[in-house]
Formats: sequence, C-alpha cells, structure tokens
Amino acid sequence: MPGAGAAAPVVGRRLRQLAGIDVSELHGVGNVRREALGALGVNSVLDLLTHYPYRYLDQTRQARVADLAVGDTAWIVADVLDCRVIATPSRGAGARGGARGGRGGRARVELTVADGRDRLRVTFFNQPFRARQLPVGTRALFFGRLDVFGGRRQLTNPEVDLIGARAGRVVPLYPASERAGIASWEIAELVGEALHRAGHFADPLPEIWRRRLGLVDRTAAFTGVHRPASPDEWEPARRRLAFDELLRLQIDVQRRRSAIERDSTGIRHLVDPPPGADDLVRAFIDRLPFALTGAQLRAIGEIRRDMAGPRPMHRLLQGDVGSGKTVVAAAAMLVAVQGGHQAALMAPTEVVAEQHHMGLRAVLSQLEVSDAGALGGCRPLRVELLTGRVSAAVRRQIVDGLAHGGVDVVVGTHALLTDDVRFADLGVVVIDEQHRFGVEQRAELRARAESAGGATPDLLVMTATPIPRTAAMVVLGDLDVTELDELPAGRAPVTTVWARDPEGEESAWSRVRAEVDHGRRAYVVCPLVEGSPRVEARAATDELERLGAEVLPGVRLGLLHGQLKPREKESVMARFRSGEVSVLVATTVVEVGVDVAEATVMVVEDAGRFGIAQLHQLRGRVGRSNLPSWCYLLDRSDAPEAADRLQALESTADGFALAEIDLELRGEGTLLGTRQQGRSDLKLASLRRRHRPLVVQAREVAAAVLGEDPALERHGAMSDEVDLFLGDAGSERLAKS
Ligand code: ADP
Ligand code: MG
Repeated sequence: MPGAGAAAPVVGRRLRQLAGIDVSELHGVGNVRREALGALGVNSVLDLLTHYPYRYLDQTRQARVADLAVGDTAWIVADVLDCRVIATPSRGAGARGGARGGRGGRARVELTVADGRDRLRVTFFNQPFRARQLPVGTRALFFGRLDVFGGRRQLTNPEVDLIGARAGRVVPLYPASERAGIASWEIAELVGEALHRAGHFADPLPEIWRRRLGLVDRTAAFTGVHRPASPDEWEPARRRLAFDELLRLQIDVQRRRSAIERDSTGIRHLVDPPPGADDLVRAFIDRLPFALTGAQLRAIGEIRRDMAGPRPMHRLLQGDVGSGKTVVAAAAMLVAVQGGHQAALMAPTEVVAEQHHMGLRAVLSQLEVSDAGALGGCRPLRVELLTGRVSAAVRRQIVDGLAHGGVDVVVGTHALLTDDVRFADLGVVVIDEQHRFGVEQRAELRARAESAGGATPDLLVMTATPIPRTAAMVVLGDLDVTELDELPAGRAPVTTVWARDPEGEESAWSRVRAEVDHGRRAYVVCPLVEGSPRVEARAATDELERLGAEVLPGVRLGLLHGQLKPREKESVMARFRSGEVSVLVATTVVEVGVDVAEATVMVVEDAGRFGIAQLHQLRGRVGRSNLPSWCYLLDRSDAPEAADRLQALESTADGFALAEIDLELRGEGTLLGTRQQGRSDLKLASLRRRHRPLVVQAREVAAAVLGEDPALERHGAMSDEVDLFLGDAGSERLAKS
C-alpha cells in the first residue's frame, strides 16, 4: 500500500459493485465460458465469489497410488492411460433395476489411470460424460474411497477435478462444474482474478463485533474461502461468510418487524377486567374439565402481556401434538371478546375448522358477554363457523353478524379472508397449524384484518409441527416464540412400532381388530401416492375394499379423502366420532388436528414415504385420552433414509426432539422451501446444530446494531447488502438462481 494513502479511510469494495460486473469482464471469459458459468447460476462477479467450493483438498495430503490401502479415502493426481465406455446389458424387461438406469442404460466408464508406474482402475456408473471429460492423456485429480472389485483395486464414482497448472497448496473443488462443462480449476482461476481485481473489501461488520465474535474480516473471508493458503484458513472464512448470511437475514427480519410496530397501532386489550365486568378467560378456565398445564399457563400469561400492550402481538405458539394449543388460543380469543372485540380462528382445512367450531362452541357458548342492546344487558357469546361449504343464506347471516359485531368468535378456513367479510372490530386472529404461512402472507393477512379504526389485530400463529427454536429465529424471525413444552398429565403413551415384515403387519391388524372389539377406533392412512388428489383417493378406495374383503372383514369401515364432497366428509367424520364407523381409511387429510378421543390405533401404510413431521402428526391422532394407544408404521423397504425416519419415530414421542432430528437429516431446505419463508441466500450457513451459536449471535448483533442505528445510516455497507440480497430486486435475483 502506498505510504501516502495510509491515513485515508479504507473504503473497499462493496458487494453491490461486484453484482454489477458481468463475468465476461474477466480475462478469458468468452461466450462459451459465460454460458457454462450461467448454467451454474453465475452471471456476475458477485455470483462467482459466492459460488463456494464444496470441498478442499490439501496437497500435502495427496496420496500415491502405490500407498493406497483398500478402504482408504484419499485423493490422487493421475494421468488417464485408457478410457473405455462399457454398455451394461439391461437385466431383462420388468427387472427392477431397469427403471433405475434410465434411458441412457447403465453404461459405465472405465479408466485406467497412473501416477508414475502405479496403475489403478477408476469406474464411473451412469456418468457417460466422464468419457468426454477424461480422454486419454488427461491429468486429473480423483477423490474417493479405494475398494476392490473383481480382485482389482479401484475407485468407484470418485469426485474429479481437472488439475490446473497453478494449483496452490489447497485445491478447492467447485460444485457441478463438470456437468456445466467448466473445470473446477478454471473457476478457481477466474475467482483468483476476481479477488485480485476486487482488492480490499468493505467490511459491513464493525471491527468491534468481529473481535468480540472472533470473526475474520471480509477480505480474509473471501480469500480464505476460495484460496486458502493452508487448511486452517477455510473454516474461519466459511464461518465468517455464513455469519454474514445470517446477519443479513436477521437485519431484514428485524427491520420488517420494527416497521410493523412503527406503522401500526395495536389494541390495548382488557386483560384484567375490573370487578363486575366480564372475565371470560377466568370463566372459561373455570369451566374446563381439567387443570391447565404449567406450559399452558405460561403461554396464556405471555399472550395476555402481549395483548395488553400497545403494539400488535405477533406470536408463534409452538407445541407438540396434543399439548393443548386450542385452549391457549381460546383464552387469547376471549381476552379480545371480553373487551368487546371479535376474534377469528383460521384452520387449515374444513374438517379441522368444523372440529374447532364444535369444540369451541361447546365451551364458549355457555359464556355470556355484555351487550347493552340485549335483554338484561347480556347475551350468550356467539361462535360461528364460516367455511366454503356453509349455505349462502347462513353465510349472509354470519357475514352480517361479523360486520355488526353480533358474532364474537368466528372459525373458518381461508374463506374468512374473502372480500365480503368485514369485521366490526376484529381484536385477534389465530392461525392454526400453519407454519407454512410465510412473512408475506402474514403481512397480507394483517393488512386485510385491519379494522375500520385502523388498529391492527393481534396475531397468534400456532404450529403443530414445532421447528427448533434457532431455526425458527431464521425462518419465522418476525414472530416471538412461545413453546408448550409439556403434555397434559395422565396421557397414556402411544406405543410406536415399525412393522417391517408380514408378521409385523399382521400384528398391527390384529391390534386393530382387538381395539375395535373394545369399542375403540382406528385410522388407516393410505400410501402417499405422488400425483393428484384423485390418485390418492383411488388408493384409499382400493385399500378400503381390500381391508373390508380380506383383512378386517365385518369391521365397519369408512372412507375419508380430499376428493369427497364436503357433506360426505362431514358425514363420515360424524359417524367415526359416534362410533358407527370403527375404522377410518383415509389419506393424509386426517393429518392435521382431527380429534377423536376414542381412536387408539393409527396404521400408516408405506410409512417410509412420509416425512418425520407428517408421521408424528399422524401419530398424534391417537393417544388423545387416557387409553393406551398404538401407532404402526408399515414399511417393508430397506431404504436407509426411510429407516432413519422410522427409527426416529420409534425412539421418541417428543415433537421437539423429532424436529431436531428432522433438521439434521434433511437440512434446512424444507424449512426454507418457499421464497416467502426463505428470502435467504443461505449458501454456507446452516440451521443445523453446528451453526446454532452463529444464528444466535447474528440475531444479537442485528438487534444491537439496529438498536443504536435503526435506519442503518452509520452502517451503509450493511444496509446496502441487505437490500442487495433481500430487497425486492434481490429476492428476484435469488429466486432466479
Ligand atoms: P393440539 O395442541 O394438538 O392442538 P388440542 O388443543 O387439540 O391439542 O388438545 C388435545 C386434547 O387435549 C383436547 O382433547 C383437549 O381438550 C385436551 N387438553 C388440553 N389441555 C389439557 C389439559 N391441561 N389437561 C387435559 N387435557 C387437556
Ligand atoms: Mg390443534
């Protein structure tokens, strides 16, 4: 650095500048390479610098072919001496393997490679492009595990990189490059040039934080991630860049959150009615046939505090299946109603909406609310159901009641948010079982729910599929989280059995028969057929016939699937509740929220096809009383991923623990699935256990920075970056890649 400039502040390169430079401005990027890079989603220099290596190979640990022992995982650099494509004859029509090979057949590419005089065979299955990539004479790097096949030592399906002339001590391997027709080393060279020309990077994270958290600076991070001089460099570099991803998200989420708080006025609900006034919450709790759990009491306490405050509540209630979320929701609704406001509960399906309506009406309609217009100054609390299937006349009455305030509590589906529904004075909205509800949808809901006076109703989101707390901070970061981490006492546990063979299945069916003989009920959930609801319906219908004819003769069976008419669904559910139907053969429509206390057996067919959360939900349909219950997971396959899931279900009944396992097994992809939930550029950061501390730190730093500089006026680079990655233009950019 020239001495004269030493006193000048170092400004440094901002990522936005790099986002504006096309990769074709780099040396040697013509049309062909530009296209290859484009196939990797790399169009700008920023894209290139955030296209991170997936693996690093340390030159000092490079192996010699001669030294390799069977079972070693190692990497070698070797020359291709021979390359042959061998077409494997297909194993005959109808054989299972035939489908797997696909139309390309099961061609294999066999190489003989050597470093010096020592030779080795390298075999690739189903990667025909390897023949083009690795013609005779190529020098390449191979990374894999040495095994023995047909008496010869070989590497099977190793990772490959074509070695550039100037590989440093550490060789970075870039994802998917070979399929795009660009070698890892070529990317590495381009990155090297980009880094060199970019020079010093502006660091959006003030030094004081870097020091406190032990994070390297931006320049070191980009250098270390792409061109680590030694193996100790890549980890800190990746950690720093992962932190930045999380910090951007947290800044974004927390800013939205404070914008909501700034721009909206909440309702100060009447949480402690004076003597003589309605105390509906107390009256409700007193009438319950059970005592609340400690967790329920805590949750209600938190909600009451939120609702009493001047800002709109924005809270997530996470609780395991059966933890009693509905009671908590009812308490929240009653807080609103006792102050003269209305409450709405939105359920994911009509079946669940009906059930909530039935349950709530049973307890709530015994309560009375003050009403100056009514005889004696009070009237029964009015709870209504509004779904797509109520008749036009009834609907008109309810809509009218909502508009004039005669309806206190309304339960429904999304139909609640149609244009003709207006509330006189909506005080709280509860959304049940919808963690799929994203940030934007919540914003939309909030906007629609705003009452005429401009006050924003409180919002309580309930999820039956808990997600780990730190993951929730990222995915649902705009919500405060309450956890119901305690089940009501006296619940008999659900015995979970993975039935993996015909005998196991038979014991499941005999359990069903035995329980039905005792007057209990069972669910049989049918294979999750990929495709349309119609196909699923078909599968359930066929299964109903098979069970009736062969497995459960004489048992009264009912059928429930998404293709049934509303009235048919309602009727079969009613018959199942009353016991007229003993076994409900269903698709996953029973997954959420269906509550029949006498149901004691859940049989899930082809269980390996379901995810952990879904299976846990299904299991939650039984064990809803003090009767012992069983959940049989039928699956004869031996797919390892399915086995992991089924074993997890067998091992624990704790939904929070399962959520952790699920996250470790599947990664955060599913949580960040849709754009409105994701809005993220999590390339390096993970929500899995290993990055938990980083998530928490990012949240703290975001809060601290925004606390002292809410508009990020003194954090220009940070603000710029958040907009770049997560602003509207940014999210489009991300959605495309
Ligand atoms: P979920 O959290 O799965 O939505 P629900 O709210 O449907 O659970 O409650 C499950 C069942 O437990 C219901 O039948 C409900 O009446 C009952 N329940 C709720 N709270 C308690 C409690 N504290 N003690 C006993 N039973 C309870
Ligand atoms: Mg529920």
